[in-house]
Amino acid sequence: MSRQTFAHINLVALKDNLHALQALSPNSTNIAVIKADAYGNGAIACAKAISADVDMFAVAIYEEALTLRGAGLEQPILILQGPHQAAELTTTLSHNLHWVFHDDLQFEWLRASNINLQDFAAHLWIKFDTGMHRLGFAIERFSEIMKKHQDLISDKTVISTHLACADEKNTEHANQQLSLFLKAVNDTKLRLSIANSAATMEHQTARQDFNRLGIALYGSSPFSDASQGIKLKAVMSLTAKIIGLRRIPKGDSVGYGATWIAPRESLIATVALGYADGYPRHAPSGTPAICRGQRIALVGRVSMDMLTFDVSNLEKVELFDEVELWGEQLCINEVASFVGTIGYELMTRVSYRVPRIYIDSEAK
Ligand SMILES: *Cc1c(COP(=O)(O)O)cnc(C)c1O
Repeated sequence: MSRQTFAHINLVALKDNLHALQALSPNSTNIAVIKADAYGNGAIACAKAISADVDMFAVAIYEEALTLRGAGLEQPILILQGPHQAAELTTTLSHNLHWVFHDDLQFEWLRASNINLQDFAAHLWIKFDTGMHRLGFAIERFSEIMKKHQDLISDKTVISTHLACADEKNTEHANQQLSLFLKAVNDTKLRLSIANSAATMEHQTARQDFNRLGIALYGSSPFSDASQGIKLKAVMSLTAKIIGLRRIPKGDSVGYGATWIAPRESLIATVALGYADGYPRHAPSGTPAICRGQRIALVGRVSMDMLTFDVSNLEKVELFDEVELWGEQLCINEVASFVGTIGYELMTRVSYRVPRIYIDSEAK
């Protein structure tokens, strides 16, 4: 391998986060959400690492489930967006897939197929919209849907919803969704699923039969205030090497568009990672990174394959020193806040060009 730009994926941290979350909600089945290639961390490696401790995986789409089956993972897999096409339903039993149905058309596809409905019933989740207004049957239709699909409802059926504001300090919206949902399902004995990471961490009543844990597994807090909720360990550390070092005089500029002007004589380090690797191009000057355990600041525009940092404050710095863009030494959410986004986006966007290096023991 030549360029030493890596996303180190700490599978020990992944397991620790899982166990900490499971301890919060020990009576629930805590589903590991590994959609979008496990939020950029690598779905197969992450799934295998936690496989012994997880009863169910969830992905967004059918193709992602096939990838896991291809890799030999055996747990049931929940497909959060439900089928996009009728044909996807045909491998439900052979692949042990579970589906979130959220529209009448999906029931029509099932009923028009030759799939045995009794067999399929154990694979059915039904999603209700309680205020997120993205997917799901209107919660007002709860009784109607239950009645209409009586033949598909069993003690295995899971009724789900999704909260829009579980990560917000103000709990009014979440509480409103929770009470709408719990009121509607009140006298059913069906199994329930409400919580994502944030709701599992902050809303006790959202912890039901199944929690759907995503971002927190990967060690990025779902809350803007990192002190909220339990302590999580960073799973991904994104690092690259300094491949250029130059001293520039006060008043000279750095990078495309000459947007950053050195306020004093400065030592500039060029780092081998750019927007083609998933580092956000709109990261502003001042966005932090770590070199030799100290903070350095991004200066000038992000290029396709390179970043430039002002390293004038470092006592010592050498060519091919390592820079951490985010990870164990620098919280991904802090970088995200400089860039105007969230940890989820930074993590999922690390591109195919960055090799994932898996760490599976305490010693690095
Ligand atoms: C992605 C997703 C989750 C996981 O959310 P996190 O915030 O990452 O924990 C849960 N439920 C649904 C429906 C999702 O799409």
